[in-house]
Amino acid sequence: MSYRAPVQDYEFLFRNVVGFDLVAGTERFDEASPDMVSAILTEAGKMCEEVMAPLQRNGDLHPARLENGVLRTSPGFADGWTAIAEGGWIGMSGNPEYGGMGLPMTLTTSVNEMMSAACLSLQLAPLMSQGQIEALDHHASDAIKELYLPKLISGEWAGTMNLTEPQAGSDVGALSSKAERNSDGTYAVAGQKIFISWGDNDFAENVCHLVLARLPDGAPGTKGISLFLVPKRIPDENGNAGVANSLKVVSLEHKMGLHGSPTCVMQYDGATGWLVGNEHGGMAAMFTMMNNARLGVGGQGVGAAEGAYQHALAYAMERKQGKTPSGTIIDHADVRRMLTTMKADLFAARAIMLACAVAIDMQTATGDAEWGARAALLTPIAKAFGTDVGIEIAQTGVQVHGGMGFIEETGAAQYYRDVRVTAIYEGTNGIQAMDLVARKMMDGGDAAARLLDEIEAHAEDARGAFPEMAEAVWQATESLREATEWLVSQSDMNDRFAGAVPYLRAFARVLGGHYHLAAALADRGGAREKLARYYISRLLPEHAGLLIQAQAGSADLYALNADELSA
Ligand SMILES: Cc1cc2nc3c(=O)[nH]c(=O)nc-3n(C[C@H](O)[C@H](O)[C@H](O)COP(=O)(O)OP(=O)(O)OC[C@H]3O[C@@H](n4cnc5c(N)ncnc54)[C@H](O)[C@@H]3O)c2cc1C
Repeated sequence: MSYRAPVQDYEFLFRNVVGFDLVAGTERFDEASPDMVSAILTEAGKMCEEVMAPLQRNGDLHPARLENGVLRTSPGFADGWTAIAEGGWIGMSGNPEYGGMGLPMTLTTSVNEMMSAACLSLQLAPLMSQGQIEALDHHASDAIKELYLPKLISGEWAGTMNLTEPQAGSDVGALSSKAERNSDGTYAVAGQKIFISWGDNDFAENVCHLVLARLPDGAPGTKGISLFLVPKRIPDENGNAGVANSLKVVSLEHKMGLHGSPTCVMQYDGATGWLVGNEHGGMAAMFTMMNNARLGVGGQGVGAAEGAYQHALAYAMERKQGKTPSGTIIDHADVRRMLTTMKADLFAARAIMLACAVAIDMQTATGDAEWGARAALLTPIAKAFGTDVGIEIAQTGVQVHGGMGFIEETGAAQYYRDVRVTAIYEGTNGIQAMDLVARKMMDGGDAAARLLDEIEAHAEDARGAFPEMAEAVWQATESLREATEWLVSQSDMNDRFAGAVPYLRAFARVLGGHYHLAAALADRGGAREKLARYYISRLLPEHAGLLIQAQAGSADLYALNADELSA
């Protein structure tokens, strides 16, 4: 499918909205000049347009398959992987000591979004490797880093993450995979994992699995879990992929979408593994990978939204139906409503995603705990709002196509089917919202309050230029502040959890208003000001209804008993 990389949109956001100049101003990232950023985005965009976008339909029509235990990927995916690897796009933010480019996460996040828009099912493969690279860099021994990181960064080897088991999905602590200590310092890992993305492929020499399992003396629950690196082929004395390890792909799932990405049931039969991090400290190590993947999955939603939007817009500009000035459906008011809403939400979700990446970069560059808290606060919002918006925009894209949206040949339906899972994996969006109102509010709401202070100060500054828009953003922020204070004052966590999803969305709505206002200030009288006006007058008001739900408590959710629910 055709795709145009939105390079100028990123450049505008970097320059005017998300404060990338702060990142480029640090010693750590001082090479990220505007020219360098532009060159990287342009080069990555070209690869996405020319190599990855043409593969999108292949993955859907010719899913990955298992033939006599050998995994065969969709036609062209091996070449796509080679192009991604050779372009250096896997290890963009990887440690330069091991061959990475050491670039800011803000850039990696933008490139990942473009790759997701071009071919979501293939992009999931480098995303898994990137998370593993970061987890190993932070938690593995030097020997493991020296052996594995150069190969993962170059794309010779690929990475996966193995958490889920049939009885242990959202509740990771319920896992039953086991590990035993071997006499040579390695471990024997046994158990079954399900839903493992890219659990195997036919393009990398080795596939390295990060597997959560419990040692015999591991406590029940998440506290007793350890993390192991379990390669498909055990490295020989020269560090090359050697003999086969005791693991296999048992079967592939038949899915609603994302057909090009093999989703595997994995069996480990005493497979040789190496400990990553401390014994029983696996969750801390895995969280490095999961946080990386959460922002990455939010970016998948944004990418799918961009692809679906471009697709719908192109159709609306060609489809003739009814009497309109241009003769095409783009001049019907309701089609305008759909397209403008798509564009405005796409901007908001992308800005939130990039602001989260900027906070991560600032934490990396400065070590400042406040930036760390900002990144932690924004991660569940970027994941859940990015993917919700991806699904909504892909769904609206089908609607813009009318009947042709329901017909597979147009490709509109594929965006919707492919992106749907992003709200489910990497922690469902419900779990993200609970993380926001519980773990991310353990500071009594301080990190949230600091962000709301900044938004209000910015709105104050904007009053002269745009009094109405500034007032709307300021008022919405005040309402969000009140709701935040209400939430943190609830001692019964279920009252917080009951309102978590609407609260997260209201938070995202306010952030979206803030970033749209910044865009309007940078483009007075231009298209970005017009889009900001649309968002702030039509979409931002949604926060009010959401915040009522956020503060409603849990009693009415339990008012109907199970019998009454099924009556
Ligand atoms: C295509 C695909 C690819 C995947 N890739 C990977 C992978 O590479 N590696 C991997 O390890 N896993 C992977 N997963 C698994 C994925 O992360 C899980 O499906 C997800 O975490 C949800 O777990 P579950 O399916 O068991 O659902 P459940 O945990 O059974 O959840 C069902 C519903 O209950 C809700 N729920 C559950 N617990 C709570 C709670 N405490 N409070 C409130 N609501 C709750 C959920 O939000 C959800 O709506 C993949 C899944 C799919 C479909």
